[in-house]
Amino acid sequence: MSVLVIAEHDNASIKGATLNTVAAAAACGGDVHVLVAGHNAGAAAAAAAQIAGVAKVIHADAAGLEHGLAENVAAQVLAIAGNYSHILFPATAGGKNVAPRVAAKLDVAQISDITKVVGADTFERPIYAGNAIATVQSGDAVKVITVRTTGFDAAPATGGSAPVEAAAAVADAGKSSFVGREVTKNDRPELTAAKIIVSGGRALGSAEKFTEVMTPLADKLGAAIGASRAAVDAGYAPNDLQVGQTGKIVAPQLYIAAGISGAIQHLAGMKDSKVILAINKDPEAPIFSVADYGLEADLFTAVPELVKAIS
Ligand SMILES: Cc1cc2nc3c(=O)[nH]c(=O)nc-3n(C[C@H](O)[C@H](O)[C@H](O)COP(=O)(O)OP(=O)(O)OC[C@H]3O[C@@H](n4cnc5c(N)ncnc54)[C@H](O)[C@@H]3O)c2cc1C
Repeated sequence: MSVLVIAEHDNASIKGATLNTVAAAAACGGDVHVLVAGHNAGAAAAAAAQIAGVAKVIHADAAGLEHGLAENVAAQVLAIAGNYSHILFPATAGGKNVAPRVAAKLDVAQISDITKVVGADTFERPIYAGNAIATVQSGDAVKVITVRTTGFDAAPATGGSAPVEAAAAVADAGKSSFVGREVTKNDRPELTAAKIIVSGGRALGSAEKFTEVMTPLADKLGAAIGASRAAVDAGYAPNDLQVGQTGKIVAPQLYIAAGISGAIQHLAGMKDSKVILAINKDPEAPIFSVADYGLEADLFTAVPELVKAIS
């Protein structure tokens, strides 16, 4: 049996989360196939074919698949599900929208947010906001899985040369329709794909200060900007910058936390970062317990000094 990965894409290119999901799929055993369900998405399918380790790309093209409406994508997955022992989605907003529909229709239990493949039917996943790791074994014939992308190194985006096979696209389910999309324009790297993240907390005190203090540091380092939930709730930073249990899960090479206390819900989203630098004026702040480098200082002095010191 083969393993199916549902690609996350924008019809033109493949999103990074797909690469981590391919790596997880490879660990499940069997040939890895990638489904690109979209509209005029030939370029995305061609990009998927280049991913190292992919044996086949299945390309379903229809207007109803253009915007990734969950009802239609789930129907497309179900149309080919019979050929697969495992169906893997990245645990992103898109993947988490489709996977439960597929699992329910197949009458199997979804295995959510896996961070390790122990064997073809056994997986590790974090529970209690990452404070414990559960090893789960599934007896279902088909494993419907969402993959925590930070748990798996990305498969190389190039090096493969898989054939692209056209699949008959399913009819529009007609249960939902695409109305519009408001996309945040951002020149910075995407938070979940960034190599460096600078995150600000409640200590910043206002949206103006958040921008004034954090932006120059992000600019200097070519980093993405993140925020704690307290900073987001207070309106200092937009919602899509939130890192943590109810925000984004990140694991960059370098995570700089400025004025963030390190509540477990925040740590759940960033503690797998390779190097953590915490700037906090409270020596007892829990963030220091996960930090590789801790700077006990006032961030309003320390961050500008850091910016100045980086050439
Ligand atoms: C169900 C649930 C889900 C949650 N999900 C998330 C989540 O996804 N992400 C998240 O972040 N939180 C989440 N939270 C909230 C979390 O519990 C904390 O309330 C939040 O992370 C605190 O944010 P903070 O560290 O910015 O603020 P605070 O806890 O208020 O910490 C501010 C820190 O700044 C320091 N400080 C103050 N002034 C300065 C200064 N001038 N210079 C340097 N340091 C200074 C203080 O010493 C303090 O440590 C969740 C909570 C719940 C209950």
